[in-house]
Amino acid sequence: MSDRPGRLGVGIVGAGRVGAVLGMVLRGAGHAVVGASGVSEASRDRIADLLPGVPVLDVEQVVERAELLLLTVPDDALPGLVTGLAGLGRFTEGQLVVHTAGRFGVRVLEPARKAGAIPLAIHPAMTFSGTALDRARLNGAPFAVTAQEDALPIAIALVVELGGEPVVVEEGARGRYHAALAHASNHLVTVVAQARTLLSRTGVDNPGALMAPLAQAALDGAVRMGDAALTGPVARGDRGTVAEHVTELSAPGVESDVLPTYRALARATAERAARAGRLRSADRDAVLHALDAPLRQQARQPRVVRTRAELKAALSVDPTHRRRAVVMTMGALHDGHLELVRRAAAVADEVVVTIFVNPLQFGPDEDLDRYPRTWEDDLAKLTGLGVVDVLFAPDVAQMYPHGEPQIRVNAGELGTVLEGVARPGHFDGMLTVVAKLLHLTRPDVAIFGRKDAQQLSLIRAMVADLDMDVEIVAIPIVREPDGLAMSSRNAFLSPSQRESALALSRAMRAGQEAAPDGPGAVLAAAAAQLQAAAGEVGVDYLELVDPATLRPPGAQQQELATLLLVAATVGTTRLIDNAVIDYSSD
Ligand code: AMP
Repeated sequence: MSDRPGRLGVGIVGAGRVGAVLGMVLRGAGHAVVGASGVSEASRDRIADLLPGVPVLDVEQVVERAELLLLTVPDDALPGLVTGLAGLGRFTEGQLVVHTAGRFGVRVLEPARKAGAIPLAIHPAMTFSGTALDRARLNGAPFAVTAQEDALPIAIALVVELGGEPVVVEEGARGRYHAALAHASNHLVTVVAQARTLLSRTGVDNPGALMAPLAQAALDGAVRMGDAALTGPVARGDRGTVAEHVTELSAPGVESDVLPTYRALARATAERAARAGRLRSADRDAVLHALDAPLRQQARQPRVVRTRAELKAALSVDPTHRRRAVVMTMGALHDGHLELVRRAAAVADEVVVTIFVNPLQFGPDEDLDRYPRTWEDDLAKLTGLGVVDVLFAPDVAQMYPHGEPQIRVNAGELGTVLEGVARPGHFDGMLTVVAKLLHLTRPDVAIFGRKDAQQLSLIRAMVADLDMDVEIVAIPIVREPDGLAMSSRNAFLSPSQRESALALSRAMRAGQEAAPDGPGAVLAAAAAQLQAAAGEVGVDYLELVDPATLRPPGAQQQELATLLLVAATVGTTRLIDNAVIDYSSD
């Protein structure tokens, strides 16, 4: 007991840094420290240092003697300690039981309250060294204070007595309060320590001194204004600098935790800057892309999967979210396909390619059986790109385990024109498999070629009409040096047929060149080219349409006729091509 009136007998359970320092300060304010418990040697030394003359007792004795009991044990040990002491009947009526664990309010002290004690939770928002220097740190330090309403003035008075600044935090908010403080202070130490080591490897003598003014200014700014204090390359959308940093931090010899930390924080920084309207979304995307560059640079080997289950297992479930792109093909890959894959790698972190010759989109008299299948070659080409993560190549039974699907996507009006006339049902079959593959691969973005212009329009329409959450990206037609649009079906052409087939691309080019003279001239110029090869090239259609409707616009709206499409048979091979017509004169 204290021998001075109004002063309390203080007992400390767990003389860690916080317990010893608080005891020292309370003693300085005139209270008597009647006993302290500490199991480790460090605790005993600290008691001898900071609380000279205070008896080291076992826990139960400390509790028994204390009017003000400080429970300053590690957070995780607190609930067990309180229940244990209550079980032993050690708490007493009117005893002040105080803990200093950040994440707990007073609910954890409920067993003590039931025994008649007054529970208080105080948490210094400060870090301690466990030495006498801490006395100064406590001065004016904010303390979170939680107590039942009637006991709150006692908790506040206690904090004031300690020299602190009380801030009341609700019982239910303690977890969040503590997470915020740990994030701001403990993780800041990690970031600064990483930077310090990096700087020390640049030959700078005193890395701490070099970064202190900048880091302190940043901290001051952030504490005052939050995100508005942000400066630097991410906030400027300077992707080149970010990419350079990432390259530097990927170098051998840099501690392995630095790059992941840098990337995670830079990503969060970019997202926050964009949300605050300080970074345009295109610049944010450029920064995010630069941050992921090292992942893309490592040559990737496609993981070949044949079944739905294998596919599911191969797709990432990265909680930080890797952007996934899918490229759907029927195999017999050429440079057009590879261009789709390159684009996929440029816009996403994870690239999935599918190869599946879909029977559903072939008519009974079409070339399903003889469609070229060049698996070894396809795999070699995709491996050579070094950007494919997963190659999904199912067989028909895998895609249609119950035979022909009962339910299909209906292409509607757009599916009945142009290709739809010659190939009834083709687009229903195509859309059905595209929908299935989108569901199976769950991409953020899917890449298609403009070579199949009607297909592209239909896929866009399906995604919009059926609310599919995927971005559709289109790439221009890839051509052979002589202009022939690349196609897997070109493999069927004999050398002379291949020569004749050039009439299609010539027609498209002639149409584009005639554009300044209007739509009539476009069609005439294209038709003339096809006519010149009439013996070998059987034209199915040549049409100039509005790309939105895929129908020729009315006479009043001729300027909408900007998509020129052709389909023709050369030998037994059906070929298609198209071109965008630009009527502006320059
Ligand atoms: P396919 O294997 O023919 O079903 O085509 C798969 C994807 O590649 C589709 O998105 C096509 O539009 C695209 N594609 C095929 N040939 C070309 C090409 N020459 N240029 C651009 N994309 C193409």
